[in-house]
Amino acid sequence: MSDHGEGLAIGIDLGTTYSCVAVWQHDHIVIIVNDQGMRTTPSYVAFTHIERLVGDAAKNQAARNPANSIFDAKRLIGRRFSDPLVQSDINLWPFKIIEGPGDKPMIIVDYKGEEKHFSAEEISSMVLRMMREIAEAYLGTAVKNAVVTVPAYFNDSQRKATRDAGGIAGLNVLRIINEPTAAAIAYGLDRMASSIGKRNVLIFDLGGGTTDVSLITIEKGVFEVKAVAGDTHLGGEDFDNRMVKHFVNIFKRQHKVDISVNSKALRRLRTACEKAKIILSSAMETTIEVDYLHNGIDFSSTITRAKFAELNMDLFRKCIHIVEKCLTDAKMDKSRVHDVVVTGGSSRIPKVQQLLRDFFNGKELCKSINPDEAVAYGAAVQAAILTGMGNEKLQDIMLLDVTPLSLGIEIRGSDMSIVIPRNTAIPTKKKEKYYTMRDNQTSMLFSVYEGERARTCDNNLLGQFELSGIPLAPRGVTKAKVCFDIDTNGILNVSAKEMTTGVMSKITITNDKVRLSSEEIDRMVQDAEIYKAEDDEHRKKVEAKVALENYAYDMRNTINDKKIGAKLGLVRKKKVNDAIEQVIQWLDGLQLVDSEEYEDKLETLESICNPIIQRICGQNQKL
Ligand code: ADP
Ligand code: MG
Repeated sequence: MSDHGEGLAIGIDLGTTYSCVAVWQHDHIVIIVNDQGMRTTPSYVAFTHIERLVGDAAKNQAARNPANSIFDAKRLIGRRFSDPLVQSDINLWPFKIIEGPGDKPMIIVDYKGEEKHFSAEEISSMVLRMMREIAEAYLGTAVKNAVVTVPAYFNDSQRKATRDAGGIAGLNVLRIINEPTAAAIAYGLDRMASSIGKRNVLIFDLGGGTTDVSLITIEKGVFEVKAVAGDTHLGGEDFDNRMVKHFVNIFKRQHKVDISVNSKALRRLRTACEKAKIILSSAMETTIEVDYLHNGIDFSSTITRAKFAELNMDLFRKCIHIVEKCLTDAKMDKSRVHDVVVTGGSSRIPKVQQLLRDFFNGKELCKSINPDEAVAYGAAVQAAILTGMGNEKLQDIMLLDVTPLSLGIEIRGSDMSIVIPRNTAIPTKKKEKYYTMRDNQTSMLFSVYEGERARTCDNNLLGQFELSGIPLAPRGVTKAKVCFDIDTNGILNVSAKEMTTGVMSKITITNDKVRLSSEEIDRMVQDAEIYKAEDDEHRKKVEAKVALENYAYDMRNTINDKKIGAKLGLVRKKKVNDAIEQVIQWLDGLQLVDSEEYEDKLETLESICNPIIQRICGQNQKL
């Protein structure tokens, strides 16, 4: 094999259940077939007493060797052992997972008669190496560079672990991109020539383990992700599990035996169920047959497409809710969606397609892109762009991803002031001005948070930095311009600059920091919805408090102004001053109270101050 592949880069869709590899060659994308002639390869690794198997060979023997046939490594990658999702998955897997150092889940197998421990990264690296070798065999050259895809909701830890898996496989991972974004590239390229103006495209990716829905706009070769929504535990395997459960019950009824403790029987049943499910996408009925399923009993049973749909109806509906959520986040009515693209093997299920069509009022779905290959296709396009291999057709494409959560600064010691709202396209740069809270403040502390709640204690602290050496001045006079800057890799730089002196301070929040998991993101978004009323109430109180505070301090600055103070006269000045100081004292020692109380106080203070001040400053002068 020659070593001329230096500049070459492949695109790898590292799926939960199946992986796919593609490359840009002779001005088009080639989906590369594996040694079995298949265009997708099971993300399986198996260990036996003589060898290690990857891909089809591993999956084919899984039923005979369930405890040492590893799949779903993507569900573990970058997660903690104590993660409730990992804990619930453990019950479904026929292989063993233990808690390793640092709460890391470790997969235990028997390899050549010895117990071996593997991390999810190592298992994924074996799949990635297989995909690399498939490409190398086809291209006849070594391949070093790759673009690898991950679900849109993967957090930094999961992305980093995926990148590490690439490293272990000897690959230089040029970029990790979101699967739905990759599918959109594949779709956009196909249609770019014919599409006129701007198109809103909804990508519905229902795979083996995940659901990812994205709303993307495509205009003049630019793809912009408007919103993403998803579920990291909703896909074909869940549909298989429902069918497995169904047949376990039937077996129990027929033979009075519970086979759910027999992992080998379950594995064989699951394999048969997956096949039956795929058949039911084209046939109305099928029979599953597993010889010697348990204690020498042959099992045979029929299932219809309608029964399969009924077993999974709640899960299918969940997929539609994710679509709804994505549209809500993007603030887009479904009638404005030009195209609905379905990708992922499970998107072939007729009932899912029907629900999706019904949701979009009978709109025809775009299925022209092979559902199993669209993601790898897009990854290969991105790989070609990054290595400068693509032709001019690819040059104008820019990819924009979004921030999954709002980013902001803590103000008044407890409130979230959003600088970059959730679902803003990155890279992005936003500026906001903040004022000092106390008189003669010499420094300002900036705490950077992510989250959707009104109070920072409910959000996630990303970092803090201080701006010191600011000039002495009354409260609210000193201003700092805060700039949030997120680059293409999602790295956030926050800087603050005092406006008169120009003193600056900043912080960099990198992807390396362990950020929130997708479940935590989901939870925070859901919490934000549930507690919205509470948050609104809190916001109302804060706004009322701020209005009163601002008025009181403005008044104090006004009467302390020499010219105005002189005109006031001692008696009137004392009256106004006493009223102001009373309010400031009241505010200082107080927890938040009802907004009405602040409003009443403001009204009273205004009724004392306004007539006096207005007489001096003139009726038309704004105070
Ligand atoms: P992932 O990327 O999550 O690994 P894929 O997009 O490759 O997933 O889809 C794999 C899933 O699709 C598997 O659960 C598989 O059983 C399912 N699948 C494949 N073909 C069909 C079909 N014709 N009907 C229903 N499900 C299918
Ligand atoms: Mg996929």
